[in-house]
Amino acid sequence: MDNKKKFTETIQSLWNILSSDTGNIYRYRLIYGFCIVVHSFYAILFSVTGVTELMIFNIISSAMYVTGFLIAKFNRMTLLLVILVYVEIIAHCFMCSYVIGFEYQFVLFSVAILPVTYFITYLDPAIKKPMILSSVLAVINFVVMVISLDYSSIHEPLYTFPVGFVNAIARLNIMFSVAILISFALMFLGKIKYDMNKLKEQNDALDFLANYDQLTGLRNRNHIRDIFVSYIKSTEPYCVILGDIDDFKQINDTYGHSAGDEVLRSVASIIKENVSDKGEVCRWGGEEILILLKGSTRSCIDLNEKILTEIRKTTVKSDSYSINVTMTFGLCDYGDETNIEKLISLADKRMYIGKKNGKNQVVTAS
Ligand code: GH3
Ligand code: MG
Ligand code: MG
Repeated sequence: MDNKKKFTETIQSLWNILSSDTGNIYRYRLIYGFCIVVHSFYAILFSVTGVTELMIFNIISSAMYVTGFLIAKFNRMTLLLVILVYVEIIAHCFMCSYVIGFEYQFVLFSVAILPVTYFITYLDPAIKKPMILSSVLAVINFVVMVISLDYSSIHEPLYTFPVGFVNAIARLNIMFSVAILISFALMFLGKIKYDMNKLKEQNDALDFLANYDQLTGLRNRNHIRDIFVSYIKSTEPYCVILGDIDDFKQINDTYGHSAGDEVLRSVASIIKENVSDKGEVCRWGGEEILILLKGSTRSCIDLNEKILTEIRKTTVKSDSYSINVTMTFGLCDYGDETNIEKLISLADKRMYIGKKNGKNQVVTAS
């Protein structure tokens, strides 16, 4: 079971590498690897069956692919290598038709290489016009395939083998080509998945930048306005609370700006944790926090008092400093008011009453 899991994980990570933006070397190596296996196999087979021309061709091809495999890590001359692979595959297709005939289905390698070339060159930043290149190669490929077919239909092959042998090789070539196409399809799907995940991550990051405050992780002013509209439309009771950290300037002046930032983060996190799914918290400006809280006025006041008690009790550590803070809140219930600005302005007015009356309190009436 453990081994099975390990195997699945290895395949998964291989798939991820082959599908990633940086997987160029591995993609080329996969193709070279395939070609090495196929050509070595045919070099041996044609040597055993005495087809010298194809044996030599396959030995040279194998050597070429081994070289390609080894130098792939330098990520150089990729255009030349792509063209060489292509020339080799279509030359092999023609050579096989010329020497032993068309019915062995070596042409399938020429077909299989078509989508692979589009995919691989498209993902290779070193190749400038991948679609034009792949299309030109595809047309040449097509012409050679047709010439190979026509040639073999009017000329006798140099070597003939029993039909059983021909069919066995044809089956093998179908299998090899299907394996190439399946690997390519999996890589292609992997790339789509990889791109979609990347796009989602970027969207999430952009969404965070656009809607959230970077320092505290709270929603920003623009974002809360949209949510506010849904509160106003809803029939559920709610309260609007505006809070402002007391003597924050003095905290900055005494302990430094980064200590001030730490205080802001701590206060924001206390409020966010307490509000949880009962409402929304937003950084309204500097050290001001706006809260939309669902529930009856009584329950909102109670929670607001609880938040203030927790803030009072908290000691924020920054460098060697231990900082205690308080906050003043202005709370108003929605009443019949449907104007966002008026509700915020009422909460603001109450908060300033609290500031004037000694700070460190929740003000619920004007
Ligand atoms: P009060 O009790 O009346 O609210 O006094 P206060 O000192 O808190 O209010 P004041 O408006 O005089 O000062 C607010 C300070 O908050 C000034 C500003 O530099 C600071 N501030 C605003 N945003 C940030 C921030 O992101 N980080 C830090 N460290 N300070 C900030
Ligand atoms: Mg303040
Ligand atoms: Mg202020």
